[in-house]
Amino acid sequence: MNVQKTVLIPGGAGFIGANLIRKLLEENHKVIVWDNFYTGQESNLTEIISNGNFKLENHDIREYKEIECDVIINLACPASPPHYQKDPIYTWETSALGVLNLLKLAKKNNAIFIHASTSEVYGDPLEHPQKETYWGNVNPIGIRSCYDEGKRAAETLATDYMRTYGTDVRLIRIFNTYGPFMLPDDGRVVSNFIVQALQNKPLTIYGDGAQTRSFCFVSDLVEGFYAMMNLKTSPGVPINLGNPDEFTISELTTLVGETIQKEIKLDYKELPADDPTRRCPDISQAQSILQWTPGVKLKDGLALTVEYFSNVLAKRQV
Ligand code: NAD
Ligand code: UDP
Repeated sequence: MNVQKTVLIPGGAGFIGANLIRKLLEENHKVIVWDNFYTGQESNLTEIISNGNFKLENHDIREYKEIECDVIINLACPASPPHYQKDPIYTWETSALGVLNLLKLAKKNNAIFIHASTSEVYGDPLEHPQKETYWGNVNPIGIRSCYDEGKRAAETLATDYMRTYGTDVRLIRIFNTYGPFMLPDDGRVVSNFIVQALQNKPLTIYGDGAQTRSFCFVSDLVEGFYAMMNLKTSPGVPINLGNPDEFTISELTTLVGETIQKEIKLDYKELPADDPTRRCPDISQAQSILQWTPGVKLKDGLALTVEYFSNVLAKRQV
């Protein structure tokens, strides 16, 4: 089979990248990863390093660099609140300056530019579920702002490149996604709860656990990215990708307990500032434009993720 497209994936050594790259290689695309290993790790890509269609380069997107490619899928940015808040100025530079560098490269190559935006652009939403037409309710000076406003700035830059230079820009607003290749100490709720339960520790609930999220299993998200890449032309507007089944964080603790078949203990902690109260995607655009609907139920995705983390933790003990 002929190699189809050369796809550059900044941030490809992280959680979503590790899953997406496997799909692209299976489909016979050539993949080049740029990553500075801020939250990603080479070990996520171990068995594909030797694949002739794959190349991994240590590069920080805050610096401009040139390479030939047909498609850029930008995943580079720490995604977990503890990681993106650790150095907020770094997060902002990566989100805004890094994206500007990649847009310059996309323009030079006449490449498709797919960008991992986020449901955080809606902030603590006053509209529910969130449609792409909703402008959001975002604190510009809070502890989440480096990420939320950085991602909003990136959407602005990309859309201005589309309007000014005709760059083929495709924005994906990802809602909470989980699955294999998350870091055990990533800090996001699904990985925290599973790792805590497997280690017989109490599950840390921030606030009263009544806040909601809608959890998408990563294989579904990858199919959505692939459908976006294969569209003949840009949809011209951002598209939500996420699973519309909404759960409270308390419900998630119960489901994790049922999956691991253990009695779960809870440790209530303070709710961090600006933590969104409700979140659920309206996916009607993804359904009509990409013909995409997520298929993996939370119960089934959790079982696969528990299996993954059990193996990771077992290896650590050896
Ligand atoms: P992740 O932290 O696992 O991966 C991010 C990757 O980007 C890592 O490999 C990291 O080393 C790399 N990176 C960070 N800064 C960089 C820089 N300056 N230059 C080069 N590489 C850099 O996170 P993830 O969950 O895989 O998320 C990937 C993308 O999807 C992120 O942009 C994130 O904002 C977005 N997103 C993810 C979710 C989710 O639920 N997973 C939700 C919304 C948006
Ligand atoms: N959360 C929690 N315990 C944890 C980690 C997170 O209760 O150990 C909560 C967090 O306050 C938020 C929700 O779970 O309300 C989702 O958090 P996550 O960091 O996964 O994603 P985000 O807040 O960015 O959606």
